[in-house]
Amino acid sequence: MERWAIAPVTINTPMKILVLNAGSSSQKSCLYELIGATLPEHPPKPLWEAQIDWTHQELKVKTAQGNVIKETLPSSSRADGTAQMLATLWNGKTQVIENPGEINIVGHRVVHGGEEYRQSTFVTKEVKDAIAHLSIFAPVHNPANLEGIAAIEKILPTVPQVVVFDTAFHATLPPAAFVYPGPYEWLEMGIRRYGFHGISHQYCAQRAAQILGKDLNRLRIITCHLGNGCSLAAVREGRSIDTTMGFTPLEGLMMGSRSGSIDPGILIHLLRQPDYTVDKLDDILNRQSGLKGVSGVSNDMRQIGEAMANGSDRAQLAFDIFIHRLRSSIGAMLASLGGLDALIFTAGIGENAYEVRAGACEAFGFLGLKLDLEQNQEKLSEDRDIATPDSKVRVLVIHTQEDWAIAQECWQLAHSS
Ligand code: ADP
Repeated sequence: MERWAIAPVTINTPMKILVLNAGSSSQKSCLYELIGATLPEHPPKPLWEAQIDWTHQELKVKTAQGNVIKETLPSSSRADGTAQMLATLWNGKTQVIENPGEINIVGHRVVHGGEEYRQSTFVTKEVKDAIAHLSIFAPVHNPANLEGIAAIEKILPTVPQVVVFDTAFHATLPPAAFVYPGPYEWLEMGIRRYGFHGISHQYCAQRAAQILGKDLNRLRIITCHLGNGCSLAAVREGRSIDTTMGFTPLEGLMMGSRSGSIDPGILIHLLRQPDYTVDKLDDILNRQSGLKGVSGVSNDMRQIGEAMANGSDRAQLAFDIFIHRLRSSIGAMLASLGGLDALIFTAGIGENAYEVRAGACEAFGFLGLKLDLEQNQEKLSEDRDIATPDSKVRVLVIHTQEDWAIAQECWQLAHSS
């Protein structure tokens, strides 16, 4: 393996930050170039963006200049696929750097940081061991994150790597919010509420303060991350004090194909049936439930909307449950906050499905929250406040920028070390 010299990080030279975001069935990646001694106020456009769909073994790459490639990966090896993806940074039509040595730092999204990791950190052997150990809590995601770290170590053995944890933002939950009311031994076994989507919730809370021109420390915010996975966070003084996901990303809201919270008695009942195994239950709760399970149509909110328009009662029921549970959980976050200054919608559904935003907001008119129904229905390609001027609660649509949030963490760690 050829070794490249790593460009030193100094305060005024451009800094190239590679971000890797590994999911169960995809690997997303992008390269940012930051110039200057301070972070830009708005997310810059990445120089290069790539995505691997492991299910279809497909790699897509696009650059800021508009060059695009779409390739089929020759093997299902994740290490080979990641190496092929990274090589498009310095080879071929999508080349944006001369050689890998131009990359100053690499940031990874890691789903589970457990109790130990309350903030982003540089990768060391100890950190890797901890991520591996925490795989028992995140069996799909944490191993994928480790593969990404290993792929970079092979290609860029001396480049500093940073891990940014999806659980870290929720490290400030108070015990009453994170301890389950089971036997106390559960807590000693690590069975507690961790919360997820923290990178997105934190980014949205900070961005909300920026848009509103207010001090984050004086705001009470509920962030609604509604994508394939859905969760809420109650943010006070910039800290997460409550959230809907728990020990795993299965708790809380109804999701695309995940049930969210259900009576645990159902699990006991089903496991007593002769044809129910633990694996079958796992598949049902994670992949055959939620919008998909109820509607029988799809896990995709767009298709639920189409089916509703075509008169599907089950799609309508799935939508109604989604809204009912979203409202209930917003109510729960509201109680934890003791008031509300801003309600934030983000991710695929939150940014696009105006019917969901309208359905959720309708229940909170008693707070003086007034949604501007016309603005709500416009295509919101920019972050925007869609409450009426006299609304007592601001309602914001924010395009979540998890990769940018990871890049910022890298920048900050690089400049503080
Ligand atoms: P992930 O959690 O996989 O990152 P996304 O944030 O991309 O997911 O969100 C996916 C969800 O967003 C899907 O339910 C999809 O239907 C929904 N979505 C995306 N675009 C729209 C749209 N224009 N209208 C309604 N829903 C949308």
